[in-house]
Amino acid sequence: MRYNRINIITSAPKPPEASILIIYTGGTLGMIHDAQGALKPFDFSSILDHVPSLRQLELNLTVISFEVPIDSSDISPTEWVQIGKLIYSEYDNFDGFVVLHGTDTMAYSASALSFMLENLSKPVIFTGAQLPISSFRSDARENVITAIEIAAAKENGAAIVPEVCIFFDYKLFRGNRSKKVESLYFDAFESENYAALAESGVVINYNRSAILKSNKKHDLILHDRFDNNVAILKLYPGMTKSYVTSVLGCDGLRGVVLETFGAGNAPTANWLIELIEEAIKKGITVVNISQCPGGTVMQGRYETSKRLKEIGVVGGMDMTLEAAITKLMIILGDEKDMTEISLKINASKCGELSLN
Ligand code: ASP
Repeated sequence: MRYNRINIITSAPKPPEASILIIYTGGTLGMIHDAQGALKPFDFSSILDHVPSLRQLELNLTVISFEVPIDSSDISPTEWVQIGKLIYSEYDNFDGFVVLHGTDTMAYSASALSFMLENLSKPVIFTGAQLPISSFRSDARENVITAIEIAAAKENGAAIVPEVCIFFDYKLFRGNRSKKVESLYFDAFESENYAALAESGVVINYNRSAILKSNKKHDLILHDRFDNNVAILKLYPGMTKSYVTSVLGCDGLRGVVLETFGAGNAPTANWLIELIEEAIKKGITVVNISQCPGGTVMQGRYETSKRLKEIGVVGGMDMTLEAAITKLMIILGDEKDMTEISLKINASKCGELSLN
């Protein structure tokens, strides 16, 4: 993969207060209108013209752009590995990282990166925009400036937010707790099951008790093996046996995220339970996630989830779908044993689920 790289020292002639690596992958944020009014990717060497207030931050900014910026609908584990490898190889050279990314799949990418970067002690802040940076009312400027400020923020020499996060519309969320919830207005992200890590206004107010503690004692480890032989089986009233059979019958399938109702409930029809049981017996890990954005899966609470528990479906607690599917892919990339896989799904790797 080839990248374009530029360096901007906003503090010159003074020495910079922090060094930030911006990784530009594509998405709406980085688009500008050309003379004919068509949207084309933005040249980052002119970022100071578009966001002049960056000059007040006194930073050393390096921007690495994907040679061909992509709409985030085209993101896949290949790009997650590229982003992970860039952060891993540049880790000692920067105080923090900002990933500019389309909003559509940002929650998947932020979740994936949170699982890839074990022992993270520096901020990795994803952001994007609902309107291109060249648009009159664009949200890009505020999102980029504050994401950079958070990536550079330190206290007693340590990063304030040593996590993979999404900053959007004045709020900072844990990446693996976030969900895109809005495609029209600026408040595109929500984190229903976990408090915002910070809110920006006149000042940036950090929710310190909610932020993960930095893991400086251990070196950063990069997990970059994904097994994408997974599927999402969304339940709905009236689904047919052939729908379930075809999802569970995918070639090479190793893991399924079962999107259930409410607190983890499913229809009690024998054919459904038998198909899921058969899949588990064949070695497919099935993880139960609720279709509700808030609350948690409690297998066994209702009659309608008791049988799922009995046949060996793994309760995914309060994980988002985005966290569950990326976590499953990364665990399956490293692990073969089904008991180990279930234990790892149920453990909190980096704050993606609540243990009580
Ligand atoms: N389709 C765009 C993307 O996700 C939308 C955006 O950038 O917000 O890349």
